[in-house]
Amino acid sequence: MNVFEGWKVTSPYGYRSDPFTGGRVFHTGIDLVKYHKYPIPAFVGGVVLFAGEGVAGTGFGGYGNVVALRDEKGHVHCYCHLDSVAARKGLTISKGDIIGYQGTTGRSTGSHLHYEIRAKDAPSYGYGSHVDPGEYLEQYYENSEEDEDSMTIKADDWVWKQIYNILGAAYNEGKIDWQWCQKVLDRTLTAWEYTHVLAVIEARTKGVDVDSENPAAVAPDQRRK
Ligand SMILES: [Zn+2]
Repeated sequence: MNVFEGWKVTSPYGYRSDPFTGGRVFHTGIDLVKYHKYPIPAFVGGVVLFAGEGVAGTGFGGYGNVVALRDEKGHVHCYCHLDSVAARKGLTISKGDIIGYQGTTGRSTGSHLHYEIRAKDAPSYGYGSHVDPGEYLEQYYENSEEDEDSMTIKADDWVWKQIYNILGAAYNEGKIDWQWCQKVLDRTLTAWEYTHVLAVIEARTKGVDVDSENPAAVAPDQRRK
């Protein structure tokens, strides 16, 4: 299973050369890209510990606008460099809820999501206790009772409008079928479908013919059982 299916990974977790200094540093999260201001659905549910601009000394210095939520196993999921946040501290959110928008706030060289998972929530929101996000999510999903495919996106009106604008434009260009716009209007679009319809749009933009009636056709072997 590729837990980041539909995302472009621009920098993996682990050692890399620092884009600012050129030195070799450990990259504590994974850099994921859709496009600027893409509404980002939570990879897992949890309680929001922090939502706002990360300042030096808090565990989020340089991370720009951050949403951090603690999952049921006590790990902290950090969504960083957001253009803006769409969650409030103390709220319980579900997998698939929109937590913020892809951006380039803080110490960032371009619009992307720095997604970091920390094993502890204190001090400084577990700064330094990072784990491999891909491995962690894979295990988390395997042990989770959640039926990912059926999780419907929960978002406010403004977010639904943004999603409708994205899918509506793709429909007008003949890249997807109307049923996906209808699902947005009915608010029955699941997080999984949303990700996959975007993958269809992207593939068709690159001239790859995929079956939008069945978004799973993008990568059949990666669909969850
Ligand atoms: Zn990063």
